[in-house]
Amino acid sequence: MLSDSVMEIKGVGEKFAEDLAALNIYTISDLLLYFPSRYNEYEIKPLSELIHDDRVTIEGRVVHEPSLSFYGRKKSRLTFTVIVENVAIKVVMFNRAFAKKQLHADDVVTLTGKWDAHRLQITVDHYKKGPANTQEEIQSLYSLKGDITNVRLKKTIKQALQSYGNEIEELLPEQYLQTYKIPNRKSAIQTMHFPADRIALKHARRRFIYEEFLLFQLKMQLLRKIKREATQGNAQAYDAKKLQAFIQDFPFSLTNAQEKSLQQILSDMKSPYRMNRLLQGDVGSGKTAVAAICLYAAITAGKQGALMVPTEILAEQHYQSLTELFGDRANVALLTGSVKGKKRKEILERMVNHEVHIVVGTHALIQDDIIFDDLGFVIVDEQHRFGVEQRRTLREKGLDPDVLFMTATPIPRTLAITAFGDMDVSVIDEMPVGRKAIETYWAKENTLERVLAMIEKHVGLGEQAYVICPLIEESDKLDIQNAVDLHNQLQAFYPPEINVGLMHGRLKAVEKDEIMKQFAANEIQVLVSTTVVEVGVNVPNATIMVIYDAERFGLSQLHQLRGRVGRGSKQSYCILIADPKGQVGKERMRIMTETTNGFELSEQDLKLRGPGDFFGKKQSGVPEFKVADMIHDYRALETARNDAAEIIEQNLLEQDAAFAPLKDYLEKNHTYTDKLD
Ligand code: ADP
Ligand code: MG
Repeated sequence: MLSDSVMEIKGVGEKFAEDLAALNIYTISDLLLYFPSRYNEYEIKPLSELIHDDRVTIEGRVVHEPSLSFYGRKKSRLTFTVIVENVAIKVVMFNRAFAKKQLHADDVVTLTGKWDAHRLQITVDHYKKGPANTQEEIQSLYSLKGDITNVRLKKTIKQALQSYGNEIEELLPEQYLQTYKIPNRKSAIQTMHFPADRIALKHARRRFIYEEFLLFQLKMQLLRKIKREATQGNAQAYDAKKLQAFIQDFPFSLTNAQEKSLQQILSDMKSPYRMNRLLQGDVGSGKTAVAAICLYAAITAGKQGALMVPTEILAEQHYQSLTELFGDRANVALLTGSVKGKKRKEILERMVNHEVHIVVGTHALIQDDIIFDDLGFVIVDEQHRFGVEQRRTLREKGLDPDVLFMTATPIPRTLAITAFGDMDVSVIDEMPVGRKAIETYWAKENTLERVLAMIEKHVGLGEQAYVICPLIEESDKLDIQNAVDLHNQLQAFYPPEINVGLMHGRLKAVEKDEIMKQFAANEIQVLVSTTVVEVGVNVPNATIMVIYDAERFGLSQLHQLRGRVGRGSKQSYCILIADPKGQVGKERMRIMTETTNGFELSEQDLKLRGPGDFFGKKQSGVPEFKVADMIHDYRALETARNDAAEIIEQNLLEQDAAFAPLKDYLEKNHTYTDKLD
């Protein structure tokens, strides 16, 4: 059986089984699904098309006998020259002493390895005598550990395929194989290990990419369905007329994107399911306005609402804008760490009595003695700043309230549908009209004086500036020293009437808040800060954002920082000070100066950095796929997502025999029993 131990295969003893275990291969099925990590395809390209540092294959004529040298213990280095397109290419092979006897002057050889374009040199890891023959078998290369060799592993897989291949069953319904023209599971597995040609390999890979995505999407969507159905009966009967009147009173009309997101949220509220939705939108796209309308909807349904934000200053800002927006339509209260004693007690009482309709606060909202009369709607802003536990605590202060998470960190569509597969997502991907785009410039270190003069000029016009200094990796101390130094320098540079403030992560929360208040009141004109200022702070009078060593930041973070300015009616500027060495760094700076769309940037960032780095540690729920690549194979991911939605909507797992193997698989892999958060 496929679930048997690998020891059942002839020739696999205990020692070899142990080595296989190090690769997470225990059963025959594990072995068959241990796909090559890459293939030698012998695709010969002209020298001019070879990319530095890439793995390439070239075909050439050996000029003279290779020379062999030994170093260290048992280590050897073989060097020779080949002529390719009349160019002499230096060849290096490590630990292949035996090859010396096989390669002679005038032999034609095909060499695969890492290309050094500067030295015209190839470091070979695979070679073969004779010309490249594209008809030839493509060589599978596995990632290996311990004593296992590629040859041995391949041989074992071949044996397993011979003895057990017939037991491989199809997982996908026949109709999918036909629609997508993909090979069946058995032949696809065979091809992954022993591809007959490039085309066959492509189709086999296509199959597994789709299969991986489909299984993943089914899992996520089933989980979401279970979560939704687990909680019923919180339908909120809000007053649509009152809502209309409220919206009409706004000094602006909603953008289409705001309108669409609002409708999605309202329809969740109306439904008996507990909402679990993420609202994404660039800074300034108008999330707060949408949030306010939803909070008001909850109030008209007789419920209370809560808005939790990560910092005191943000809480105060939201409190102010909500108080203004609601006027005498609702009572809004502020609850933060600095609200204490009698005042706090009074607010708590008014919450229990339902005199307070909306509470805005920090994590002060989740203390034990905070009790609502009937909390029906919860918003968590900058949700990634809170832990799962904190979010849950707030939610549990109501009876299955609808929950809306908000984030201004644009998450690429690609990641959103994987990482947040168990949440619904609304996106505000459009800015209110008439916003002035922030002008972004890239300045070299040596133009610093001009940048400082520019700040002085704008401060003279009554405006304010942020100056961000970089994180110094691994060293909190140096990091802060850096900020302190820069602060001193600027203070010395500017005349005394320009007040330069300093903000960094070592300050206490109250100190940070105090400095932000001074900045908001224009008592500080230039604020030197580490990235702690990143979170949604709103000082509309600040028009200049200078970012030191900008090449050290990711695009999304730069964008986040840039979003601190451009919040008022005045033209704002972002100056990136950077001398990036590499191509990627230069590319980043270029993208920043050309793009102000956060979603576009985040897609680019993802491409430059890869998904592993994209989220903080807390959120790295991004799955690893064996064959598929979320970015490269994005189309397949979308197809799989739609198919999964259809399967679940039409209950095909239960009702259609063609889907029985899929259902079986999902059950065996514990999808139905996954814990709810
Ligand atoms: P976010 O929370 O997404 O950063 P806000 O809701 O704070 O954005 O909106 C930023 C600014 O834009 C606020 O001053 C708000 O009043 C204004 N605003 C919001 N929606 C619109 C709109 N549709 N048209 C014009 N201005 C808007
Ligand atoms: Mg609901």
